[in-house]
Amino acid sequence: MGLFKPAWMNKNEKKALIAVKKLTDQARIARAAQEGSSNIRLAAIKKLVDQKLLAGIAKDAVELFNNNYYNIIIVIEKLTDQGALYDVAKNARHIDMRCAAVEKLMDQGVLTDFAKNDENDEVRFIAAKKLIDKTLAQEIYIDIAQNGEPLEVRINAAGELTNQNLAQEIYANIASYVNNDYHREMLFERLKDKNVFIERCCNKGNHLWFYKADTAQRGDFYDVDEFRVCKVCGKKEYSGSYSRKA
Ligand SMILES: [Zn+2]
Repeated sequence: MGLFKPAWMNKNEKKALIAVKKLTDQARIARAAQEGSSNIRLAAIKKLVDQKLLAGIAKDAVELFNNNYYNIIIVIEKLTDQGALYDVAKNARHIDMRCAAVEKLMDQGVLTDFAKNDENDEVRFIAAKKLIDKTLAQEIYIDIAQNGEPLEVRINAAGELTNQNLAQEIYANIASYVNNDYHREMLFERLKDKNVFIERCCNKGNHLWFYKADTAQRGDFYDVDEFRVCKVCGKKEYSGSYSRKA
């Protein structure tokens, strides 16, 4: 066919990167940002200024942003146009990208709409934090803290409540069914009355474990006793013993 392959498609990544850096045309840069290998894409994104093209990448790229918040920051920092940010906040496929865009929105009407009506509670929470109307923000926090998901956003929303009693009630309620150490730790830190934690978690066998080992030297060997202790109620369980050479 004899068509030119763009130089940024060079299999030698060093050469490809140099080629990207030489590009000046925004549409060509955008193509490299969409179709290149991940390093090429990033190098291209850094050269993009066209807000529509940037918004397009922010909305559609998923792999580039998966478990890579740094890449999201690179894109979001380049988006300055409020219309483009709104488009990304509303339509990006990656949830962290949506949240990052909402964070940069300024219009209170738009933010109110996100806070009240978005289907994702993390987006709602971030929008609520940007509201100047603190009364409305509190209403949103209460709703998320009581009904939202995932658990983390419920706990964080409860953390924003001015009604401390309600916040404590919500933590206690969540504590009664939370099923992992990460969330239990969050609740343990926030519950003022540790007896509530003992009653809701420890008494059902849901302790907050930390793991330890005792070692004692015996000749050429160390005897190791491994055990775990609950940070809250102090319950101790041995998990095993072994010897290893000193
Ligand atoms: Zn315990």
